Amino acid sequence: MCGIVGYIGKKGAYNILIKGLKRLEYRGYDSAGVAMINSNGALNVYKTKGKVCELENYVKDKDITGNIGIAHTRWATHGEPSSQNAHPHYSESRNLAIIHNGIIENYADLKKKLQEKGVHFRSDTDTEVLVQLIEYIQLQKKLDLLTAVQYALREVIGAYAIALLDKTNPNQIIAARKQSPLVVGIGKDEFFLGSDASPIVEYTDKVVYLEDGAIAVMRLGEELKIVNILNHKMDTPVQTIDINLGQIEKGGFPHFMLKEIFEQPECITNCMRGRVNTSANNVTLSAVIDYKKQLVNAKRFIIVACGTSWHAGLIGKQILESLCRKPVDVEYASEFRYRNPVLTKDDVVIAISQSGETADTLAAVNMAKEKGAFIYGICNAIGSSIPRSTDTGSYIHVGPEIGVASTKAFTGQVTVLTMLALALANVMGTIEEKKYLEIVKELSLIPDKMKEVLNLNDKIESLSRAFTYAHNFLYLGRGFSYPVALEGALKLKEISYIHAEGYPAAEMKHGPIALIDSDMPVVVVATHNALYEKVISNIQEIKARNARVIALVTKGDKTISKIADQVIELPATIECLEPLLSTIPLQLLAYHIAVCKGKNVDQPRNLAKSVTVE
Ligand code: GLU
Repeated sequence: MCGIVGYIGKKGAYNILIKGLKRLEYRGYDSAGVAMINSNGALNVYKTKGKVCELENYVKDKDITGNIGIAHTRWATHGEPSSQNAHPHYSESRNLAIIHNGIIENYADLKKKLQEKGVHFRSDTDTEVLVQLIEYIQLQKKLDLLTAVQYALREVIGAYAIALLDKTNPNQIIAARKQSPLVVGIGKDEFFLGSDASPIVEYTDKVVYLEDGAIAVMRLGEELKIVNILNHKMDTPVQTIDINLGQIEKGGFPHFMLKEIFEQPECITNCMRGRVNTSANNVTLSAVIDYKKQLVNAKRFIIVACGTSWHAGLIGKQILESLCRKPVDVEYASEFRYRNPVLTKDDVVIAISQSGETADTLAAVNMAKEKGAFIYGICNAIGSSIPRSTDTGSYIHVGPEIGVASTKAFTGQVTVLTMLALALANVMGTIEEKKYLEIVKELSLIPDKMKEVLNLNDKIESLSRAFTYAHNFLYLGRGFSYPVALEGALKLKEISYIHAEGYPAAEMKHGPIALIDSDMPVVVVATHNALYEKVISNIQEIKARNARVIALVTKGDKTISKIADQVIELPATIECLEPLLSTIPLQLLAYHIAVCKGKNVDQPRNLAKSVTVE
């Protein structure tokens, strides 16, 4: 998730930490903070909501001395962005300070247990639970910090990269990771720490990429020690790195968009974390538990959104209708807000927005609220305006999205809508047990199947070259693949500036077929589902008019490969989950065509990441 920096050595820590945080700013964040131990042994923590420069202003009259420190940029997942919730977090005695990237899934249980033992909390975060747990164990069992960390991490479910300072032991930083990256830089009599190498490379080229499950102990005057939670030594090699900062920021990818496309398996795992339980084979969403009555009794769902989120809404409509048997409308927020629509208190309005700040969607939410509807938000940015205005909701937890053309937020939104439909259908009894279990199991396999789809990147890159000079594209799909076609066309328009239309495949003959000729490539989402045979007929109609066809098919398809010019094979999955896989090749196709045309992929002309004007 967000940024971690650490330093221990002979130099002043503060400047190194702040510079490091600035290097990590590209990741997006909502608050920032530092902790340092000064030469008198005081552990000072300073943190603010907002940018790193606001933190710099805040500490102007504070003691920022010390040769050891940790610093963090937070992208809130638990608790709104605020100074209180920003990291570092003190333990109750204020002897320890922690920074953390990731999510502690069982934080609520752990917090309850600690509160019952009399521990007091100062924030709403999952992170504070970790530092309180470590201190509690340390005091109860009279352990040194490393052993207490090892004990505590055995009780934790979730993903983390953490760093800890201990006032009573001012010559050490302890860091640990599980499913969230951490890099240690080794200098002369000094150590650096980073969530990637960007805060480190300017000081040293000797780094250790910590492995999953590693706990690193950085002590002045000693060698780096790496152990696991059972205190077994881990031998992780020291590497010499030779990469430039731009490459690191984008994780080695040439653009944020490509990085974010490739992050999707991890993002969807995070989105499902604590919600899809693979051992119990069920889906729980806290909103469905807390607002069961309002959701179960809803007469109708109205999804309001704009752009890519609206396409996610169209997929949500199909899955909610099919599993929950309730009517669902999908509205452009900009139209809905000005139409004086019929709304009652029995309606549930679902507002979808990556940033949570989309002006039209926010206005639609406020209007629906005035008319008494119950409002459910699906957003990425925690504590943004839409989640603050809704009655309940579910965050998509895909991390900051920097590329203007949305990719991972779309699959995150579709995943949340799928989980909502499953959880609600289950409590309403509108889904057979067998079908429910089958979809839940398959949903948990989606991240691995996404990885398989991403292996097609080279193939898509080479085929995209043949299509760079097209002036128009048509994208077709039916059923669940129809919104995928719309989304594929939108991605191409946004970043390559090629005109592209998405259409339900069968509608083609009611108009767009007049446009088809050898200059009009047609992308058809033709996976093997209920409408497969009908889509084959549509492809025949296109081929009869000499257009080049790129078809997305299910692996093993023998028929379409004989008719289409290019075939992209996707792993088989349940029909309602297909969009989570079939969208990815279309993101890649748009990306590679735009790159071939030399366009600014991450910041396409005329577009803004968060559309806060109507
Ligand atoms: N879950 C933590 C929080 O909300 C850490 C978020 C992050 O990775 O920045 O505070």
